[in-house]
Amino acid sequence: MFEPSAVTEICYPKTAKLLSVSQAQQNIRDVINSITDIEVIPIADGLGRILAETVLSPIDIPPQRNAAMDGYAFSSADITLNQPFCLKEIGTSWAGRPFMGSAEKNQCVRIFTGAVVPEFADSVIAQEQVERQANDITLPANTLAGKNIRAAGSDVKQFETLINTPKKLTACDLGLMAAAGVAQIKVKRRLTIGFFSTGDELTSVGQPLQSGQIYDSNRYMLAALLQDPNHFVSDLGVIRDDPELLERTLISAANAFDVLISTGGASVGDADFVKQILEKCGQINFWKLAIKPGKPLAFGKINNCWFFGLPGNPVAVLVTHQQFVRPALQQLSGLQPSKPLQLKAVCKTVLRKTPGRQEYQRGILNQTSAGELTVIAAGEQDSHQLKTTSLANCFIVLSSECNGVAIDEIVTVEPFDTYISV
Ligand code: AMP
Ligand code: MG
Repeated sequence: MFEPSAVTEICYPKTAKLLSVSQAQQNIRDVINSITDIEVIPIADGLGRILAETVLSPIDIPPQRNAAMDGYAFSSADITLNQPFCLKEIGTSWAGRPFMGSAEKNQCVRIFTGAVVPEFADSVIAQEQVERQANDITLPANTLAGKNIRAAGSDVKQFETLINTPKKLTACDLGLMAAAGVAQIKVKRRLTIGFFSTGDELTSVGQPLQSGQIYDSNRYMLAALLQDPNHFVSDLGVIRDDPELLERTLISAANAFDVLISTGGASVGDADFVKQILEKCGQINFWKLAIKPGKPLAFGKINNCWFFGLPGNPVAVLVTHQQFVRPALQQLSGLQPSKPLQLKAVCKTVLRKTPGRQEYQRGILNQTSAGELTVIAAGEQDSHQLKTTSLANCFIVLSSECNGVAIDEIVTVEPFDTYISV
């Protein structure tokens, strides 16, 4: 349950210095609880969904002993020590068609990978290691007992935990549950998220651009950033810089969504109404963050709806979404919040910076043939410059104390992806 005081407590005094990125992240973490509603879905629809109930394996995996190789199944009691020995092949165990007969002394069964190992056998020898003449199979002097058999339950035992909660399900998880015969799973319901842009200057793509207007890039970027199997995302369009309209929109949207995200109008200009309206109709914190780009951030709750008022500049939207919105959505949908992977790289360009704010500069990360990570600035670093961000494949994270980076200094990078161009 949301406690109004929880948000009020983390309000930041107007006169105080800028709030650090980590403190703001912590403040958000402290107040958000996971939604509790659960739905049952077939595993085929499970990719990326958040498992809501720990899954136990109803069976042993594999269910029966089976061969790890194509070869011959035999009893180790028939091994003759230190010399080759001959066994009679009396049948075949195919994958899916086990050998049903029984065997006597010095007999063996042809077996294929995945086929059930017949009762009498406790060993499998690979076909490459034997010599065969008609049904006479000669095994070498160094034949070992007990090899090449996968025991029943050697992957997972019956009733053992298959997957613990909370977990965002991967392709491998779905394969694992399928191996256990699990057809349906309980997952958290999807979050409903509405987002909109604010600004008199904004035109949607497909419309002619009038003088003084710019195209709205944030909505298209946010729609993509929010794409996730755990979200139902609604584009609420552009809201003009009209306080009454903004207030009406916020109040009605807050009743319809779990989360509402706006961009723009969150600074302190004359047309920046988000803060005032939120103060009036919700429990809202307005933070001036020690982050660049992305200084102003409003966060809080309107009735039962979490609200994020992101800055207007597109690069600031990207950065604040990643640092604040994304972990909050993860936590709300039932996951532990995660953070971007950070690596150290040698910086090959000079980076300008003044102390005071943690910066997320846009960089191009490379790996040399020797494995060393190097990074260069992707270009100019103004918060309206999406082009350099589009060229980039990582953020170069510079601490608030940093006052610039010289060539060959080590910097921290957060890759956008775990793959880089070859
Ligand atoms: P604001 O916070 O509303 O003062 O906006 C800061 C800057 O971001 C201004 O230059 C705006 O024109 C720009 N901006 C605001 N919203 C958008 C948007 N949706 N798409 C592109 N630029 C925007
Ligand atoms: Mg504006």
